[in-house]
Amino acid sequence: MSEVTADVDAALAREAALQNRLAAANEANEKLTHSAATMQALLAGQHQDTLYRLKQIEELRHQVDALEGLLREAAKFEVGENDEEAWQDLLSRISLETVHVGETVPPATCTWSQDNNSLWNSTCGVAWAFMDGSPHSHGMHFCHSCGKTLVVGQVAGDGK
Ligand SMILES: [Zn+2]
Repeated sequence: MSEVTADVDAALAREAALQNRLAAANEANEKLTHSAATMQALLAGQHQDTLYRLKQIEELRHQVDALEGLLREAAKFEVGENDEEAWQDLLSRISLETVHVGETVPPATCTWSQDNNSLWNSTCGVAWAFMDGSPHSHGMHFCHSCGKTLVVGQVAGDGK
C-alpha cells in the first residue's frame, strides 16, 4: 500500500515538475514572441526611415539639378540687360526652388507692396518711396533691409 502511495507521490511530483517546465517554456516563448515583434517593428521603422531618406536624397538631387540649371540661366544675364520680365521670371523660379527645400526653410524672398499712398512696404518691415516706378524698375532685386530676393507684390492701382 505504501509503495503505491510512493508511486503516486512520485508521479504527482513529476507532473508538477513538468508543469513548471511547461510554464517556464511558455513564458520563454512569450518573451521570444515579444522580442520578435519588437524586432519586426524596429526593422519596419528603419525600413521606413531608409525609404524616407532615399526619397529626400532623390528630391534634393532634383533640386540641385534644377538650381544648377537656373544658375546657368542667371549667369547669362548681364548687368543692365533690359529684359525685366525674363529676369523676374527667373528670380521667381529660383525662389520657388528655394522654398521647396524642406518646408522648414522660410522663403528667401521679401515682398514689397505698394499702399494707397504710393508708399512701398516690405514684409520685413521697411517702408520706401520712389518718385515713380517700382523697386524693380529702379534695379532693386534684393531688399536692402533683409537682403532677401525682392519680390514685387501689390502695386497701387493695379486692381489686385
Ligand atoms: Zn526685406
